[in-house]
Formats: sequence, C-alpha cells, structure tokens
Amino acid sequence: NSTVDFSQVRAQFPILQQQENGQPLAYLDNGATSQKPLSVIEALDDYYRLQNANVHRGVYGLSERATELYEGARETVREFLNAASTREIVFVRGTTEAINLVAHSWARAQLKEGDEVVVTEMEHHSNIVPWQLLRDQIGIRLTVLRMNQKGEVCLNALKGLVSEKTKLLAVTHMSNALGTINPVKEMAEIARSVGAKILIDGAQATPHMQVDVQDLDCDFYALSGHKMYGPTGIGVLYAKEALLEAMPPYQGGGDMIYSVTFDKTEYNVLPYKFEAGTPHISGAIGLAAAMKFMQGIGLDRISAYEAELLAYATEKLKTVEGLRIIGEAEHKGAVVSFIVDGVHPHDMATLMDQDGIAVRASHHCAMPVMQHFKVPATVRASFGIYNNFDDIDRLVASVEEAKEMLL
Ligand code: PMP
Repeated sequence: NSTVDFSQVRAQFPILQQQENGQPLAYLDNGATSQKPLSVIEALDDYYRLQNANVHRGVYGLSERATELYEGARETVREFLNAASTREIVFVRGTTEAINLVAHSWARAQLKEGDEVVVTEMEHHSNIVPWQLLRDQIGIRLTVLRMNQKGEVCLNALKGLVSEKTKLLAVTHMSNALGTINPVKEMAEIARSVGAKILIDGAQATPHMQVDVQDLDCDFYALSGHKMYGPTGIGVLYAKEALLEAMPPYQGGGDMIYSVTFDKTEYNVLPYKFEAGTPHISGAIGLAAAMKFMQGIGLDRISAYEAELLAYATEKLKTVEGLRIIGEAEHKGAVVSFIVDGVHPHDMATLMDQDGIAVRASHHCAMPVMQHFKVPATVRASFGIYNNFDDIDRLVASVEEAKEMLL
C-alpha cells in the first residue's frame, strides 16, 4: 500500500465531504451500493453535456462519437474481466437482470423437467428466485449446497451433490451477508466434471478483487456497476461466446435485429442480440470510468487495503461484549455482519445513524442465511476503498454506545 495514499482516494468522493446528523459521514454500506468518485461523475456530466446521442444509428458525428464511447466502454469491461472478446460482454441493468437473462434464455432453452440447478445456501435472493420461477415453469429441481457454521461451503460436499442431472451451478463469488469468498475456480471445475455450466454472481466480488473470467473458466459472470463505484442501472453479463451464440434473445426490439419482416426476423450479431432497445449509454460510460478508477489504484492494492480494514474491524468488534460475528470464513472479503445479544439490529443501526454511521440492518436479501444462523437480521458494515481506520473506531464506539442505550 505504500504507493497509494488512501486519504487521497477518499478525497475523490464528494459525497463523503458531507455531514450526516452533524457528524462526518462514515459510509459503511458498500455492500448495498458504493459512492461515486469525481471521475465517474465527470464522465456522466461530460457525456450529457457534450456527447449525448443514440448509439449504433446516426451517421452524424455526435451519434458516431456516442457509439465510440459506448463501445469503448465495452472494451474497458472486456479488459477489466479479461474476457476473450467484446462479443462476450452484454450490458444489462445489473446482476439481477444478468441472472434473469440466463434463466430466461439459456436455461429455458437448455433445461428440461428433472434437470437440476445447484445453488449455495448463501445466495442473494436474485440468485434463488429466478431458479424457483423456472422450477415452477418447467419442473427443474433446485438443490442447495449447505454451509457450515463459519459460513463456508465444502468442495467435497459439492462433489458429492452434483451428478449428470446437474446442468448449472449458480453461485456467488462473495456473499453480501457474510463476506465469504467462495472457491469459484474449483467449483467451476467440479461443475465441468459432470458436464454442468457455472454462473458466478460477482456483484460483491468485483468491487474488491481482480476477476479474470478466463482464468476462472466460468460460463457466466454477472456484475453490478453501482457496487463498484459506477452508476446504478448498469451491469454486465459475461458469457462464453459459444453459449451466447446458441442462446435465443431475451428481449425483442430495436438494435437486436439484423432484419425484420412480419414473417421472419434475423437477429443481430453478438452482443447486440441481447441488447434490445436504447441501452443505458451513460451508464456504460460511467461504469468504464469506475473500472479505470479502480485500475488506477490497482485491484491488488484495493484488496490488500480492504483486508487490513476487515482485520482491524473484526479485531475491534470482537472486544465488544455480547457481540457475535456472523460469518467467519477463512477466506473473506470486506464485510462484517454481527448481532449483539438482546439488541435488535434495526434499533442499533437507527442509533448509529445519529452518530453519522451508515450501516445496514436487514436480512440483506439473503433470508436463508438468516435462517441458517437463526437470527432475524444482522447489522452489516461493508467497506470500500474510501473507508479508513477512523471510520472503524467510530463504528465500534457507536456500537458500544447504542448497546448501552438499548440494554
Ligand atoms: N448478488 C449479490 C451477492 C448482491 O449483493 C446483490 C446486491 N445486493 C445482487 C446480487 C443484486 O444486485 P443488483 O441489485 O445490483 O441487481
């Protein structure tokens, strides 16, 4: 970290200069969404001030420039994920839409009654409900890989669970509720050994670590721009080209066609076949700016710095009497979920807001995780590149204070 001054990184985020309830804002809800650096805000501002036009359509200069920016953003994403080709990069609304696209297009076409989709017990609802919808529509089986009391899954258990019936393993790279980082590369290998595909939900991983889809050898990878310092409403579905080629379109409309008559429509080439209608042009440009911002700091440096924050927060929180950390995986990202005996998480988070500390108290859209640990909700502090040790000291002091008031 010696080469990065993280206080300078923090200074790039205008929103963090604000006061909240008369206190400096300690924003610790990065798992829900991240704040945006100036370079992203300026890219959006620039686009609307100087470049706005519809893409892939006009022959005039402005439209050509907008198209260049939009397609340039796709190349930035390709490089960020180390995908083999921009044909494998589909812009979507976010992780939720990416997973639904795979369920509607690939799975509906490829899976039949009795086929199995395996998910883990720590999935976000967006990687559970689309498969349940499909189960109810075409009769697939949904099987759950359970986790242990630390919030980890076991590769041997996965080996025992999958069979030739398994067609898809849909798994989160990093749990938003627990912070667990799953061994997705090994999981991909296990999926392949029975001829199944793997879909990785990268919503929480991409803000925190280098992801290389070719190294992971995954079939599908989903991410959300807003969790990685980019705008809301933009995300990415990466999929191997051969899979996308064979998949039917998800939505029909403009831009996804080559020719249309009332008898027959020929679809556009990849990735446009999956981008019906006017896309979120500014979103893609903003996401590319966010990825460049992260690369400017260095993904490895981000991971290393956040690991320090996590270790410090974990150590400090453990000194709070009656506090239990939920999720103690060996391999964990910058999320710490906890409960305090006798205190409802919502009451605690409400009091912490008075101290200018923004944390989440909820089931984190992962209700089965709450059921596993037999808690209604947790308080979750999730870190980003602008957080610092002072934020954590304030977090812990605020937890102590709230506890005193509530007990
Ligand atoms: N998966 C995980 C692990 C998440 O944390 C989230 C967002 N909380 C999602 C999927 C859904 O992402 P989005 O709401 O951006 O579509």
